[in-house]
Amino acid sequence: MNAELLAQFRALLGEERARADADTLALYASDETPRSCPPLAVLFPVSHDQVAAIVRLALAHRLPLVARGAGSGNVGGAMPVPGSVVVSFECMNQVLEFDPVNRLIVVQTGVITDEIDRIARSAGLMYAPDPGSGAYSRIGGNLAMNAAGPRCVKYGATRDHVLGLRAVAGDGRELKTGSRTSKYATAFDLSRLLVGSEGALALITEATLRLVPAPETVATLRVCYGSNAAACAAVQRIMAQPVTPCALEFMDRRSLSAIREYGGAEGLPAGTEAVLMVEADGAREDVPRQIAALEAALHGDGLLEIQSGFDKAAIVRLWTARKSLSMAVKKIAPRKINEDVVVPIGRLADLVHAIDGLGERYRVPIVSFGHAGNGNLHVNIMVHEDDSEEMARAGACRDALIDVVLSLGGSLSGEHGIGSEKRRYVARELTPETLGFMYDLKRLFDPAGILNPGKKLPD
Ligand SMILES: Cc1cc2nc3c(=O)[nH]c(=O)nc-3n(C[C@H](O)[C@H](O)[C@H](O)COP(=O)(O)OP(=O)(O)OC[C@H]3O[C@@H](n4cnc5c(N)ncnc54)[C@H](O)[C@@H]3O)c2cc1C
Repeated sequence: MNAELLAQFRALLGEERARADADTLALYASDETPRSCPPLAVLFPVSHDQVAAIVRLALAHRLPLVARGAGSGNVGGAMPVPGSVVVSFECMNQVLEFDPVNRLIVVQTGVITDEIDRIARSAGLMYAPDPGSGAYSRIGGNLAMNAAGPRCVKYGATRDHVLGLRAVAGDGRELKTGSRTSKYATAFDLSRLLVGSEGALALITEATLRLVPAPETVATLRVCYGSNAAACAAVQRIMAQPVTPCALEFMDRRSLSAIREYGGAEGLPAGTEAVLMVEADGAREDVPRQIAALEAALHGDGLLEIQSGFDKAAIVRLWTARKSLSMAVKKIAPRKINEDVVVPIGRLADLVHAIDGLGERYRVPIVSFGHAGNGNLHVNIMVHEDDSEEMARAGACRDALIDVVLSLGGSLSGEHGIGSEKRRYVARELTPETLGFMYDLKRLFDPAGILNPGKKLPD
């Protein structure tokens, strides 16, 4: 980066908080996607005011800014674009206020997700969204992607837990959205607009988050079926009755064969082709009633076995197969093309059936698992990057998968977002008019296009 501009950033932030040495640039050149692009510099602001000053200086020089939490995103959202500067929120890690009376917490957006939940639990509350990456992802990244996890089937995703935000738009204006109250009907809902905006409208600096009572206890069911179709039918029965589980996770036939090969499938009955992990939470005296209702709904054609766990050791044992899955899939092929599609629950069986067909047609192994209670599946097309013929088949398979999902009334992404990886598909899902509104909003918030260019929206 030109020395004069770097000196101006250093004057704003301090010498150590504006870096352009080769090691730092290499460290911030990518997120979890297998691509990289070193930025010109990396900035480490500590306050909202510093972020506002960064945006104004960048705007004056038409310098692209790429916000970054922990870089755990897997769609290239935090990956720099050529000639850009990374704004890392890792030093904005202060909890500003914890207010159990109003069931809220105010944090800077570099705070680690699980830390928020840990603090909430000290007063019998919890921060409900539970992305699998919560031990290291930062709340700003969760907000920008509308992150979610297993509990979201009952409690909703990140967006449903935001009371208000503080942010700096791409034109340098500062916004305060929402309020500290559980009811609010004054303004347009700009918080909901900024959540999921992937750093392309504004840099989010502070968040006021809603907390809910923590459940007293959790119980788990591991449910084995003889076919994918039988498990999907059970998912429909569960969601059609009134007890909402706090997790409803699915593993397909290919997930289980990977686990069998790797280890972790011990204890699954012979003939198991699909597994549901189902959890209920709440007051100690109420959970057995919920579990009984869920078990009744889980019974049906193709059911092989239900195992239940009511204490920590039993629950850990029941989750063994699911927890060994990420390592197991690596045995199939070194790389996965990871789609994060979502369909209405009533079409889940059609999606799973279609995925089997795509795997056969394009001769690629596909491992599918995920948050069945939200109709959200992680569809992993397993590939060897050095095999160009296989990569071409996998690309065509991915393309066909998107068509299937859209034809089922579904969407490209349930929780991982669009980033740079999926934006070429966005116009297939949204109407030209809807896309037009999105471009208009982008121009309103960021007229010079300096915030995360090349992400979220198609060209
Ligand atoms: C092992 C693993 C498991 C995962 N499990 C889940 C899961 O269960 N559920 C799920 O939803 N995701 C999951 N993810 C994906 C990822 O962790 C989430 O998308 C997470 O929200 C990203 O947070 P981050 O802090 O790493 O953000 P980053 O990856 O750094 O950034 C993500 C996006 O947010 C933007 N951004 C970051 N901070 C700000 C800010 N302050 N203001 C504006 N924009 C900002 C970035 O520009 C980028 O577009 C997983 C990833 C991995 C590697």
